[in-house]
Amino acid sequence: MNTSFYVSLDKDALYHNIEYLREYKQKELLPVIKANAYGHNSLLIAKALYDFNLKTWAVARFSEAISITEYMMNNFSINDFKILVFESLNDDYSFLEKYPQICPTINSIKDLKNALANNIPIDRLSLKIDFGFGRNGVKEEEVDELKNLIKFNSLKFLSIFSHLFSASYTDGLEVIRKFTEVVNKLGRNNFQMIHLQNAAGIYNYDVEVVTHIRTGMLTYGLQEAGFYDLDLRPVFTGLIGYVDSVRYVNELDYVAYEDLSSISPKTKKIAKIKIGYGDGFLKANNKTTCLIKKKEYVISQVTMDNTFIEVDDRVNVGDKVHLYHRPNEMKLRTGISMLEFLIAISPLRVKRIFKGEES
Ligand SMILES: *Cc1c(COP(=O)(O)O)cnc(C)c1O
Repeated sequence: MNTSFYVSLDKDALYHNIEYLREYKQKELLPVIKANAYGHNSLLIAKALYDFNLKTWAVARFSEAISITEYMMNNFSINDFKILVFESLNDDYSFLEKYPQICPTINSIKDLKNALANNIPIDRLSLKIDFGFGRNGVKEEEVDELKNLIKFNSLKFLSIFSHLFSASYTDGLEVIRKFTEVVNKLGRNNFQMIHLQNAAGIYNYDVEVVTHIRTGMLTYGLQEAGFYDLDLRPVFTGLIGYVDSVRYVNELDYVAYEDLSSISPKTKKIAKIKIGYGDGFLKANNKTTCLIKKKEYVISQVTMDNTFIEVDDRVNVGDKVHLYHRPNEMKLRTGISMLEFLIAISPLRVKRIFKGEES
């Protein structure tokens, strides 16, 4: 039997979250599928979103946008989608022609002038505005110049956005006020989409001017940042595989092929599963638990290719093993967020599978 571990995903939960978020905020959703869709598999998620008639997505890098575009075109001959990339173009505009779906961000006046000089269709560009809180974007002081450029060239963009910095509640309100002012100044109708809030911003604020909310965390139902929405459902439902072998500790002691110092002296039996940090199942999982036949067992040691679990006589070869069965508690238990654990799971060695679509 195949004892390889796989990531189990719930497509109904994904669709539920999309509908729920739209209803809750009365806005459209721009799903963020960067970082391999937060470890869920950006190709699988992009196709699922497409099938749900949600055809505009956001990523951080051009490399991600290109992989997803190639996948959609080569496997399904699908090309009517858009991928907003938070990065700006450097000086290479050549690949944009090949990939009309890929929509870069303008992070400075210089970016915009370059795009105009290279005849890039402006309706595939997004304007990022920076309110002095750090990352990148057109500076507040440059908005007047921007306004003139827009007016003079009759520019219509794909979108305008900013980062809603909310170190404090009132800072956030200030960003919303300024962003709204800038959007109105540049002309709301010059943007197909207007978006400002990620997960925290969605919970903290209602923003009248936006057309979309922009989130990965809530799309996947990942929650651990001090907010909790009982109506969201986790798309990730576990890292699942089977017990590969079971040994008595004294036997292992004798064989001595692993360091047994970390095993509790009361433990008589150890189960081995075929997943380790080489698969991206991090050593930080030591001393957490997994689920076998509805009982929690301690993970005693993670090695590169295998992991050892302290079990009892209930457990046999071939039993189903559920890792990360309590995803939203990982941060409390280990100090590492479930998001980081998920992104770490190797895309090369561990498949992502929608429940009910196992092939
Ligand atoms: C990653 C990212 C997001 C998504 O944030 P969540 O916390 O997943 O909601 C939104 N906007 C930008 C610019 C990002 O880089």
